[in-house]
Amino acid sequence: EMFGQLTTGLESAWNKLKGEEVLTKDNIAEPMRDIRRALLEADVSLPVVRRFVQSVSDQAVGVGVVRGVKPDQQLVKIVYDELIKLMGGEVSELTFAKSGPTVILLAGLQGVGKTTVCAKLASYFKKQGKSCMLVAGDVYRPAAIDQLTILGKQVNVPVYTAGTDVKPSDIAKQGFEEAKKKNIDVVIVDTAGRLQIDKAMMDELKDVKRVLNPTEVLLVVDAMTGQEAAALVTTFNLEIGITGAILTKLDGDSRGGAALSVKEVSGKPIKLVGRGERMEDLEPFYPDRMAGRILGMGDVLSFVEKMQQEEAEDLQKKIMSAKFDFNDFLKQTRTVAKMGSVSRVIGMIPGMAKVTPAQIREAEKNLQNMEVIIEAMTPEEREKPELLAESPIKRKRVAKDSGKTEQQVSQLIAQLFQMRVRMKKLMGVMEGGSLPTLSN
Ligand code: GDP
Repeated sequence: EMFGQLTTGLESAWNKLKGEEVLTKDNIAEPMRDIRRALLEADVSLPVVRRFVQSVSDQAVGVGVVRGVKPDQQLVKIVYDELIKLMGGEVSELTFAKSGPTVILLAGLQGVGKTTVCAKLASYFKKQGKSCMLVAGDVYRPAAIDQLTILGKQVNVPVYTAGTDVKPSDIAKQGFEEAKKKNIDVVIVDTAGRLQIDKAMMDELKDVKRVLNPTEVLLVVDAMTGQEAAALVTTFNLEIGITGAILTKLDGDSRGGAALSVKEVSGKPIKLVGRGERMEDLEPFYPDRMAGRILGMGDVLSFVEKMQQEEAEDLQKKIMSAKFDFNDFLKQTRTVAKMGSVSRVIGMIPGMAKVTPAQIREAEKNLQNMEVIIEAMTPEEREKPELLAESPIKRKRVAKDSGKTEQQVSQLIAQLFQMRVRMKKLMGVMEGGSLPTLSN
């Protein structure tokens, strides 16, 4: 589970408020110490932790009694909002050039995943219907050029190379001209990484930036390095001027310090995150979803996004009004099937992060069973699952028509209602409405 330790640490803060009637200076003292400790252990930088804790305390004491909302839930909500603010609030979109190719310059230390990001980005843009070209500007390691060429082939994007004898700024310029000639939409320029910051690297980056006039200058940083990542973003921004960061290896057991510190420390947003070694594992950085994950609600919203867009919008409306029915359920299982890999989706469902291949096969079989059962329902029953919940006769008929047991039918119905509850809980927090207790 991503940021699992942080999640657990924060949970102990809410737990200390169970049974309280209202938040007071006295009864938040201990929970606030827990929050402070959890953030420090997650490797969030100390000044950031101080400001965060101060702001949460101030709001918590002033919040007063809200009918129907328990103090621990109030604190969860305040922390949730503050976490989002800390990470920059809104998602920070990439900018595109108004005319001519958009140029993205990538910088980063060695081993952070920069070359991988080049190819992932290309694949990401291709999915949006944009044409792409990669430019191999790392002239110090022939292996780097080879690696980029191989990855470019893998995602089916041209790679501009000029060997190791040409100056990086010249390669960049030539690559850009080539892309312009070919009407390429986005040019992604890879640069040399070093083991640590040095003047030669910075000078070279400045040089490349000057000739390219890039639309985006993105620093790739490794989530595993915690607050060090935030410090790097600050330094690169001061030295060469960057537009944002890409945080990689968020799938590893990073503690959260980088995701939480970068914006606050450097003033520059995290624009994208890498969550695995596959080409598809790159996505925008959504502060609200990240905050949701940190608070242990899983990644239901990312899951929703994976579904086709129009379906997702429709579905979200339904989730909010708790009208999620068997037609939606069916749509969802079919989307899962279309996506090919159940395992990946399952990993995003709260509480289901650790599954074995055998469990995945089991899940795939379950999905097929579900489909057969839902298909045996009448349209009315699909829309109003209550009809089935109330009627053993109807359940029996569905069981018979689908060739499944009555127990399987009942289980599926129970599952739908559980999903409704879970989604409603999640939306409650997202919308700032009534708040869930997060312990389960
Ligand atoms: P570079 O030196 O910055 O160009 O780094 P590379 O792109 O060569 O990546 C270094 C290693 O990190 C490779 O083994 C990548 O497969 C791996 N890597 C890159 N991004 C991710 C990520 O998001 N998650 C994980 N788990 N591994 C990654």
